[in-house]
Amino acid sequence: MDNGSLSTRLISVVIPLYKEGSHLSAFLSDLETALQETGCRFELVLVDDGSPDDTWQRIKDEARAFSSLRAVRLSRNFGKELALCAGLERARGDAVVVMDGDGQHPPSLLPVMIKKWRTSGADIVQAVKTKRGSESLTGKLGALLFYLILNKLSGFELKGASDFKLMNRKVADTWLAMRERNVFFRGMTAWMGFTTVQIPFEVVARRTGKSGWSYFKRSKLALIGITTFSSFPLHLVTFAGVIFFIFAVGLGIQTLYLKLAGRAFTGFATVILLELIIGSLLMISLGIIGEYLARIYEEVKGRPRYIVMESIEPRE
Ligand code: UDP
Ligand code: MG
Repeated sequence: MDNGSLSTRLISVVIPLYKEGSHLSAFLSDLETALQETGCRFELVLVDDGSPDDTWQRIKDEARAFSSLRAVRLSRNFGKELALCAGLERARGDAVVVMDGDGQHPPSLLPVMIKKWRTSGADIVQAVKTKRGSESLTGKLGALLFYLILNKLSGFELKGASDFKLMNRKVADTWLAMRERNVFFRGMTAWMGFTTVQIPFEVVARRTGKSGWSYFKRSKLALIGITTFSSFPLHLVTFAGVIFFIFAVGLGIQTLYLKLAGRAFTGFATVILLELIIGSLLMISLGIIGEYLARIYEEVKGRPRYIVMESIEPRE
């Protein structure tokens, strides 16, 4: 299948932005150069995820130069995943490219990505990290552990996956039809399936500033990823319960026997140890159940996923 002649295709580029004001102008000009090379018509969809810096002012300045720029400003920092939702809901293109606004997803890859989309006829073109860039060791280890757990629990292989991808209209619409509030973009696109081709890329250094992802935000996303993609941790609670029950029966019989035979130990240490082990196991189990309960609570409240404070419509 051919994805149509170039000049008639509209490509939307969705970019979530959090504290990226300092290099926005340089980034957008690189992006424009790369997009012009493709020969496609394009629109930019920028989402200011409640940045405390001058990102929104910079976007407004840029909107004067780009006639096809659409932008929304969220009322506070909702996190990258929800900022992506806001962007995807506003993208009109035949293909939608999602990329970071800090230059770590090189705009120069766009012509390759669009060419691959046209020639392969695939629904998704996924850019895969060959090198994770200058991330800290704990960051790399954390990502490795998270993908390993997620892969074992849900069966989805996300190692090396990035949020730099092109989706055709069909995939974008399917993604938008998933209305959950606990959004995990990478996982949800993998879950949808469709035909995917991959292109490798090297994560380059951030233009300026530092990553907007604190360890806390990362752990929260990892928790959402695991709980929304697998109910295995819940089964683990049952499993641990069964093991402890078998252990309890054995120990119970032995204790009773010793008591009846008049050879019972004083057993203080045993009691303390059992209390501690069972106490922590119970608390961890409650915590696991609590995580799922929190996800359900967030979903049933039915609040909007994000709130828009201001927006800019394209001029053409
Ligand atoms: N981002 C966002 N909201 C946030 C954190 C990040 O919209 O709360 C955006 C950020 O502006 C960038 C992209 O998400 O365009 C990736 O963020 P970052 O570079 O901080 O993450 P990393 O590259 O370290 O994974
Ligand atoms: Mg980055």
